[in-house]
Amino acid sequence: MRLDYLTIFPAYLDALRLSLPGRAAASGLVEVHVHDLRDWTHDRHRTVDDSPYGGGAGMVMTPGPWGEAFDGLGVGAEGSGTTTLVVPTPSGAPFTQAAARELATRERLVFACGRYEGIDQRVLDHAAERVEVREVSLGDYVLNGGEVAALAVTEAVVRLLPGFMGNAASLTEESHEDGLLEYPVYTKPASWRGHDVPPVLLSGDHGAVAAWRAEQSRRRTAQRRPDLLHPGEVLAGAGEWSAV
Ligand code: SAM
Repeated sequence: MRLDYLTIFPAYLDALRLSLPGRAAASGLVEVHVHDLRDWTHDRHRTVDDSPYGGGAGMVMTPGPWGEAFDGLGVGAEGSGTTTLVVPTPSGAPFTQAAARELATRERLVFACGRYEGIDQRVLDHAAERVEVREVSLGDYVLNGGEVAALAVTEAVVRLLPGFMGNAASLTEESHEDGLLEYPVYTKPASWRGHDVPPVLLSGDHGAVAAWRAEQSRRRTAQRRPDLLHPGEVLAGAGEWSAV
């Protein structure tokens, strides 16, 4: 998979060299290219923003540098394979594990990291005529730029690439993979500062452990993220667990 990042703060993405994405790049599983959007400007100040049409606060990223950058990087060019332009924005669709799974099937992801009040909409409309464009939100809050979101999406996607994780089971047993949050996890020692590991986990009874984990998973989900459960499950779960 090829990963391209367009940003006015390339240093922000130095973290791509660390941890899991860094390992994926070192092993040749992904090819990472970070680009300074200002390299596609033509004025002395390397300007990438201007005041918004219609008035209002802040500045908007101008289409010129984005369009030239996409052209220069061959985004949407013939034969460029399955490319998705990922545009982090608080007005995008919530980024989910399902979305990460879909993106993990692409040959190339290009991240357009916005700043200021965002990117002129025509940049995305024009790109959408040639490639898939996914406007994604990390959550219902506002960050200063798209870089953090691009890093988050990258990490979620790269760890799903076949051959990346040593232990594939650790992928399938995680939060959101089965639509629920993960059960609490414990390691040694069995007793720590007056807190004991739940005895069932020390029992050696695999069936009992699996049942306990499934119940914990549903309980957590009902308490913290009832929106993930079907309405019937929430009602059944709430009654059942409030009695525990
Ligand atoms: N004016 C925009 C709005 O109200 O939707 C917010 C712009 S924000 C200050 C600047 C940039 O940060 C956005 O273009 C986007 O790239 C990024 N950003 C901010 N919040 C985000 C979020 N929740 N998810 C993904 N990206 C976000």
